Amino acid sequence: MDPTTIFVVATAMMLLNGAVLGLVHGGLPEYLQPSAKSWRIGTLLMAGGSILFAVQASLPPGFVLPLANGLLLVGLACYWRALRLFYGEAERLWLFLPALLGVIALYWFATVQPSLSVRVSIATLIWSVYSLGCIWTLRAHARAEASISRRVMMGIFAAIILMLVLRLAYFVSISSRPASITETGNWVNALSPLLATVLPVIGTTAFLQMCSERIRVQWETAASTDYLTGLANRRQLTHVASNWFSSARASAQPFAVMLIDIDRFKSINDRYGHDVGDRAIQQVANCLRSACRREDLLVRQGGEEFVMALRGMDVEGAQALSERVLELIRSTPFIVETDSIHLTVSIGVASMRHDDMVLDDLLRRADRALYAAKERGRDRVSVA
Ligand code: GH3
Ligand code: MG
Ligand code: MG
Repeated sequence: MDPTTIFVVATAMMLLNGAVLGLVHGGLPEYLQPSAKSWRIGTLLMAGGSILFAVQASLPPGFVLPLANGLLLVGLACYWRALRLFYGEAERLWLFLPALLGVIALYWFATVQPSLSVRVSIATLIWSVYSLGCIWTLRAHARAEASISRRVMMGIFAAIILMLVLRLAYFVSISSRPASITETGNWVNALSPLLATVLPVIGTTAFLQMCSERIRVQWETAASTDYLTGLANRRQLTHVASNWFSSARASAQPFAVMLIDIDRFKSINDRYGHDVGDRAIQQVANCLRSACRREDLLVRQGGEEFVMALRGMDVEGAQALSERVLELIRSTPFIVETDSIHLTVSIGVASMRHDDMVLDDLLRRADRALYAAKERGRDRVSVA
């Protein structure tokens, strides 16, 4: 196939992909829409650039070359912008500066001093700048979002840079250069339209996959997190702590739970209102968070009641931790307007026994211990 035909076919594919993205756009959550919109604009610009390359022979080069390249370069800038917006980065207009400088330089080397190899070098440079920019943005968020599609996207940009460098090396090394990148009978020329296709076609698929992974992670997080405190919720307790219980039982490792309940919480609600009650729950949640180890599971079980599941911890360990928690909550004042309220909690501790068959057996004993702590005057720990 000659490069012109490839450019035409590529354009059709890009437009179809842009259309698919347009169709699914409305179904994306609002926070992904600015990013998806920028990606779609990028794809349409790439399609525009690609069709101009296909028909370049019938138009004046001083007009068509800077314009076609310019559309591709601005399209690339839109892709980088899309990735930045995807990760919540700020809008930056300087992103379009390399594309603008590129168009000016390409105009110069298409009209004043026509040179294909210089034009290819300039295009390579700016394409590489944008590809590296995209890789940079994707890498910067590796910690926050370890998705597979993010890595695929990085791979796509790395492959583009590799293709660009190979194409450039070929153009500067051969003696009989083609007059244009659409001239037939030159295998490297077939690479040019392919390069322009990679992002709108394969990249769009990877981008949509990034969106769907983001949505999945957010739903999973929402389903396992307590909205008020950001702690794990009861669903997590059932899933995670039940597994811990079973493996601790199988390997005869210690395992303990702490049931923590805020004392006389109802009176805070009654006196100061529900909002202040919510803040009290948040403050206790923060104290508990700072007291537990990384490997523990801390759950808001509901209302003003929390559970800590402690792997590898025996009853003495759990009791000592409970004393520290009591002291921490006691000594952290809860300020409401001019009042300083002293929050306290009561804690029921239970450690796994051989006759505990399921996690619920352990939790039931912890609950009885909690009840005993309340009975004995609150602000204390009781062991089952
Ligand atoms: P005790 O010392 O015996 O634990 O007394 P208490 O008042 O803390 O216990 P009780 O179970 O009587 O009251 C718990 C209250 O917690 C009742 C309920 O209205 C309130 N509550 C439950 N969930 C929430 C919530 O999400 N926010 C607020 N502000 N209050 C809540
Ligand atoms: Mg209570
Ligand atoms: Mg309660």
